[in-house]
Amino acid sequence: MTILPKLLYLFRTLPLPLPKSYLEEIQSYFLTYVWRKGRPRVPAKLLYLPRCNGGMAMPNVTLYYNATILASLGEFFLQSSTPRWTSVEQTCVGTHLIASLVWLTSKQRPELPGILPSTALYLKTWDKHRSRLLTNPFLSLATPMEVLRYWIEGFPCSRWMARGVTHLWHLVLGDSLAAFLTLSGRYGLPDTFLFSYHQLHSLWKTTNLPTMLVSSKVTLTAFESFVLHPEVSTRLVSLCYAALNAPTPNYKWNFQKAWEKEMGQELTTQRWQGAYVADKGAYNCTSLREVRRKVMYRWYLVPAREKHISGASSTCWRCLSEVGTMLHVWWACDKLQS
Ligand SMILES: [Zn+2]
Repeated sequence: MTILPKLLYLFRTLPLPLPKSYLEEIQSYFLTYVWRKGRPRVPAKLLYLPRCNGGMAMPNVTLYYNATILASLGEFFLQSSTPRWTSVEQTCVGTHLIASLVWLTSKQRPELPGILPSTALYLKTWDKHRSRLLTNPFLSLATPMEVLRYWIEGFPCSRWMARGVTHLWHLVLGDSLAAFLTLSGRYGLPDTFLFSYHQLHSLWKTTNLPTMLVSSKVTLTAFESFVLHPEVSTRLVSLCYAALNAPTPNYKWNFQKAWEKEMGQELTTQRWQGAYVADKGAYNCTSLREVRRKVMYRWYLVPAREKHISGASSTCWRCLSEVGTMLHVWWACDKLQS
C-alpha cells in the first residue's frame, strides 16, 4: 500500500476539514481494487480490522484522516522539539493552553474568538473521538494538573506541579485518591497543601471517577501513556489509528457465530485472537495464507450451503455419507482424518 504514505502526507499538510464525500471516494477506489465490480463477500468493517483481530488491515481512509488530526493535536503535549507551527496556533488562543483545553468538555471551554480553523478542527475531532483514546472520557487520569484551574477556582496548580505532581495520575493510589499523608511522603508536600488537597478530594467525589477506576483497574490507554511521557519518537498517527480502529468489545461476526454453532461451543475473544495470531504466522506463502483466511471467513461453498443455493445434494463429496458442513469438509471428514 504505497499510496497510504502519500495520503497521510496530504492529510497532515492540509489541516482543513475535508469533505466526507472526498474521503469516501478514495475509499471506494480501495474497495473496487479488492472486489472489482463483484459483490463484497466480507464486510468492509471486518477488512479494516488489524490481522490480529481477524481483519485484513485494509486502510480505512476516514479513520486515517481522523488519526492524522489527532496526531497533530498530540504534538501539543511534547515537552521538547515541539513543532514551530504549534506555537503559532498557541498564540491565537490567548492565555489558554491548547494542551489544557482538550481536557475540558465543549461546554466547559472558554470562548476562543481568535482560534485558527485548524485548531478548531483538532478540538472538534478530539471531542468526537476522545472516548476511543481515553479510559474514562469524562475525566481522564492523564489530565494535566493545570486543567484544575478551570474546575476549582483559585487552585494552586503551579505549586503542585513544582512538587512533581503534573497529572491526576500522580494522585492515585490503588483505585482511589491517595491520602494526604501518602502524597506528602511521596512528593514532600508541606501542610500548606492541605486545603487544596481537600478541594481535590471534593472534586474527586463529585465525578464518577472512583467507580470507573474500580471497573477499569486503573489502566491507561496508549494515548494517555503518551501524554504522561511524551516522546518525539512516538508514532502518533499509528497510535491514534490503532485506537480508532479497535474492534468493538465482545462483538461477534457472522463467520464466528457460524463456526461456534457447528463446533457446538462458544469461543472467548482471547481464543479467537489466538486463532488469528496463529493464522498470521503459519505460512510465508501468500496463496496459502489466503486460503486459510478464506476458510476462516467461510468463503468457500460447501455442500451444506450449495443445497440452499442450487438445490444440490448436501452430502460430503469425499465420504458420501455425512452432511458436508464447513467443519466436516475441512476437518472432521473420516477420509481426511484417516
Ligand atoms: Zn466427509
